[in-house]
Amino acid sequence: MDSAYYNGHYAETDKIRIPLSDRAVYFGDGIYDAAIGRAGEIYLEEEHLNRFFENAERLNLKTDVDRAALSNILKTVAENSGYARYFLYFQLTRNAHTRTHAYPSDARSNLLVTATELKSATRGGVKLITVPDLRHHLCNVKTLNLIPSVMASRRAAECGCDEAIFIRDGIVTECAHSNLLIVKEGAIYTHPTDNLILPGITRARIEKICKCLTIPFYEKRFGVEELYSADEVIISSTSKFSVKATHIDGIKLAENGTYISSRLRNELLLDFNGKSMLKF
Ligand code: PLP
Repeated sequence: MDSAYYNGHYAETDKIRIPLSDRAVYFGDGIYDAAIGRAGEIYLEEEHLNRFFENAERLNLKTDVDRAALSNILKTVAENSGYARYFLYFQLTRNAHTRTHAYPSDARSNLLVTATELKSATRGGVKLITVPDLRHHLCNVKTLNLIPSVMASRRAAECGCDEAIFIRDGIVTECAHSNLLIVKEGAIYTHPTDNLILPGITRARIEKICKCLTIPFYEKRFGVEELYSADEVIISSTSKFSVKATHIDGIKLAENGTYISSRLRNELLLDFNGKSMLKF
């Protein structure tokens, strides 16, 4: 069953209630992270916890829950769910009593964790559309302010697509809820980790896999032309691992006979299942 935790209480997800004084309700004032796991473990746990606590610090969200306690809570929620493979969502939101933009300096935070079943990751290729990147300049922080991504994802769904690629000033940044990488002449290219993209945990793992497999990995800005003419276009995220795109904006991408996307995906799946032979 879907299982949850909220400020010290464990329960079925539907039984949890959050207070209206939670500033997530009015301002989306909080951060979140999402990880997956199996067999009582959390895949790339350290990386997810690092990102979560760094983001909390950036937004001055204070919590008494430290890394060890959070790790314990996440594993308990996963265990309570009974799912063999789980998707863990965890968020920290600011709590204050009156709606006011400038939060009180002593505001405490609310911690919410949920576990749902991890569904089999998309196997086949995905269809993408391009949309303008209307997001703020804090894309490196995993905040709850997700309206441009929500609208872009809805637009993708209406077009029969799986994801939306953001274009900012002619540059491909990332997708609504995934990073984007292209393959060109045997090398990977992806947007640098500045404030315009989320530093994806899967993207970082792919970089390490590339190092092990001696596939060149470059952080470099590129535009729509390079996107369309790439040998392969790949999206990556915690729940999807990495998946190759087959179409962008309704146009079928050329098959150039390169298989870097499937090599990366296989390595990520082996890694998740604890069967990787790579020395990270
Ligand atoms: N970029 C955005 C905007 C995202 O929301 C996500 C995941 O939710 C990603 C990239 C992929 O990040 P990760 O690999 O850590 O799941």
